[in-house]
Amino acid sequence: KLRNEVQELKGNIRVFCRVRPTLEGELDQKANIIFPDAEADKKEITVQGPEQVSSLGKVSTTNHAFNFDRSFGPSSQNAEVFEEISQLVQSALDGYNVCIFCYGQTGAGKTFTMSSSDGMIPRAVEQIYTSAQALEEKGWSYTMKGQFVEIYNETINDLLGKAEELDKKKHEIRHDMQRCKTTITDITEVPLDTPETMESLMQRAQKNRSVAATKANERSSRSHCVFILNLVGVNAVTGERSEGVLNLVDLAGSERLALSGAEGQRLKETQSINKSLSCLGDVIAALGQGKEGGHVPYRNSKLSYLLQFSLSGNSKTLMFVMVSPLQAHLQDTLSSLKFAKKVN
Ligand code: ADP
Ligand code: MG
Repeated sequence: KLRNEVQELKGNIRVFCRVRPTLEGELDQKANIIFPDAEADKKEITVQGPEQVSSLGKVSTTNHAFNFDRSFGPSSQNAEVFEEISQLVQSALDGYNVCIFCYGQTGAGKTFTMSSSDGMIPRAVEQIYTSAQALEEKGWSYTMKGQFVEIYNETINDLLGKAEELDKKKHEIRHDMQRCKTTITDITEVPLDTPETMESLMQRAQKNRSVAATKANERSSRSHCVFILNLVGVNAVTGERSEGVLNLVDLAGSERLALSGAEGQRLKETQSINKSLSCLGDVIAALGQGKEGGHVPYRNSKLSYLLQFSLSGNSKTLMFVMVSPLQAHLQDTLSSLKFAKKVN
């Protein structure tokens, strides 16, 4: 029985890789990711190491191959990517706790994938509306509420709150261990009655983030952004009830952040990003190995603590690892892929 449980948990963690295209201003740069063509298994990607010239003048390269549950090449579209996660999104309506993360260095395509106007967030919300409507016929009625939070320097900020309160109001995470429910104190929760509500909500969050960005440069790459969708369904016919959560997380940039030279605010930022990303890796890896009953270090960072109930028990997790195709980013690409391999 135990083995089954372990396998079930492991089956609930998937890792996808997405390589962004070479952008317009980068066309003169060398790319070094070999992506299998449409005929291939769509799992493996290969990274070519830089050319090495031996003392005898011989030129060689080292190739690094990685396998994920699915890999998307530079020409992939958001629609195609969403197709692969739509089942997972659906299971939040069925009462699962779902987490979808985007991991990768700054500029690798996390925000493009997650929050652009045709990205995973708007697509997920649209699908949930459509499905919830279809389920009405079977007696279900759903209430949906959204929260949008930023975790910056291990502090939670309310991206849907008043701009002038950002960075001022304190928010604490409260876990109800009996009901496996998490609340954040004083956080804005918006009822999502129509897909349009979603659009204005995203704009509000975006505005708050950019207000904050004037205070600390490039804040969006130095903070985690978590969209939390709470879905409660009751069935008037059968009396059933379902409570699911969909968490969509745009993580802080994973680029190697040198501690040397960083001071003050920058050093603090760097330490909290390094710590929270490695903690997230540890938590997911522990779950994948079925260690849930043992020690899982949720408390080691705000992010994993916030998502504790969505990263345990009745939960499903997907990690997107985003990479740049450019040779110039080779080191960060390799370290991102290695991180992703560790959790898979
Ligand atoms: P990140 O959030 O990881 O820092 P972004 O999502 O902002 O990175 O992407 C960096 C740049 O690359 C943006 O200009 C974005 O529009 C572009 N980009 C990223 N992924 C893709 C993609 N799959 N197709 C086209 N452009 C992309
Ligand atoms: Mg971004």
